[in-house]
Amino acid sequence: MYLALYRKYRPTTFDGVIGQEHITTSLKNQIKNDAISHAYLFCGTRGTGKTSVAKIFAKSINCEHPVGGSACGKCPTCVALNDPSNLDILEIDAASNNRVDEIRELREKVKYPPVNGKFKVYIIDEVHMLTDSAFNALLKTLEEPPKHVVFILATTEVQKLPATILSRCLRFDFKLVGLTDLENHLKRIFNDSGIKFDDSAVSLIARLGEGSVRDTLSIADMCVAYTNKNITYDAVLNAVGAIDKNALSLLAGHILKGDVHNLLNELNVIIEKGKNIAQIAKDLAGYFRDLAVVKTCEDFNAILKYPETFVEKLKEQANVSETDVILKALKTYSALDNEFRLITNPRIVLEVASLNLCDEIKNHVSLEKRVEALEVKKPQTMQVAAVAMPEVVLQNPTEQDSDKTLFGKLLVNLRKQNEVMLIALLGENTNFSLNGKVLTLISSHEQEFKALTKPDNLKILNNIMNEIKAGYSINVEYKEEKVEKSVEDILREKFGDDINFK
Ligand SMILES: [Zn+2]
Repeated sequence: MYLALYRKYRPTTFDGVIGQEHITTSLKNQIKNDAISHAYLFCGTRGTGKTSVAKIFAKSINCEHPVGGSACGKCPTCVALNDPSNLDILEIDAASNNRVDEIRELREKVKYPPVNGKFKVYIIDEVHMLTDSAFNALLKTLEEPPKHVVFILATTEVQKLPATILSRCLRFDFKLVGLTDLENHLKRIFNDSGIKFDDSAVSLIARLGEGSVRDTLSIADMCVAYTNKNITYDAVLNAVGAIDKNALSLLAGHILKGDVHNLLNELNVIIEKGKNIAQIAKDLAGYFRDLAVVKTCEDFNAILKYPETFVEKLKEQANVSETDVILKALKTYSALDNEFRLITNPRIVLEVASLNLCDEIKNHVSLEKRVEALEVKKPQTMQVAAVAMPEVVLQNPTEQDSDKTLFGKLLVNLRKQNEVMLIALLGENTNFSLNGKVLTLISSHEQEFKALTKPDNLKILNNIMNEIKAGYSINVEYKEEKVEKSVEDILREKFGDDINFK
């Protein structure tokens, strides 16, 4: 029987865990120093190893002779705990056991000492799914846990946990696993299983896995099943139903030129071949992401790891395209993912989005021109400023920078420092106003606002502002200016009111 790679290669020691050294090292040290806590919280995206690490930790703290912090796997306790029906390591899925009664029952059971080792370990998966009363019941146990009990709470949505629970747990954040780690892991597994592979195929699988070991290995499983033990780049594309790069490059070419007619024709050809619409959008988003990488990163070869001929093609296209245009396209196709869920006819969504995008690209004014325009407007805005703040401007008119000039300089300096994402975030949804020495950026787009207010981004913006004019700083505000057009609205505008929605 074929055993899924994810199950077959599930790590059994801390050293076998991929890409979470910051966590496994601390846990190993706690075991070595006999400094075990009673409650742990493992947070992070799915497939990053929370449950695997929880199980390894549960066994290791019970092992009689741990080797380098991990369970030996041989002592009587290890042997007993390797039996899935043991009573000392208990895995509870909070998604299906989320009621208060179940947690109360757990509270009764924790009193009994472990059967085999030193600790009884409760692993509560998806702990954010517990009801409020269940949380309260759990909290009582966490407040006064019996000495022999260790709780490991795991969650993908830590923001849903009450502060009272957070404050009782030692928290570990699991990272998305890096591309190189995923690639090396895949290569080890393929070599071990006698599967032949191309490096570019391995890179592609790792990229499709998007930081999750589990997803990466599921895709690898599909490829193994599809290709009969010889995994090539094209085989991966076929196995996952992705569009081949030549077709994508052709589509992207039409988009970047704003050529609606040829784009829709080409889309039609691909759709007729039976490709899934959501997959087309996803592949296009991926393609524009690659273009953005080629356009903005020096070591794009190391990042992308594509076959050389394909990289050449990307380079050609990136050279003749503007970064903001590429980003516009990237944003458009990434955003479609959410819209497909709401709608019965994804093809129309894809086509309308492409249509609008081509429109925008044709009418696109480049960043340089935008800044130029702001500069030209300068004298005029000075007058406006003079009306608004007469005493300030009259004191020393030449020393005053208007909000528009400062915003323009901000964009130029961001460009100099290659902060492409920030430039994109300061697009058409952002307004600005100057109050004293604070330039307030007013975003009408919630996601962009959230991105702008990330501490790292605020730091960059403030540093640049301070360089432009010493003592000046940036403030970011959110103001819901206009409701963003829904898919339904856009479609009605294009196709009339008769269109059918779910
Ligand atoms: Zn052992």
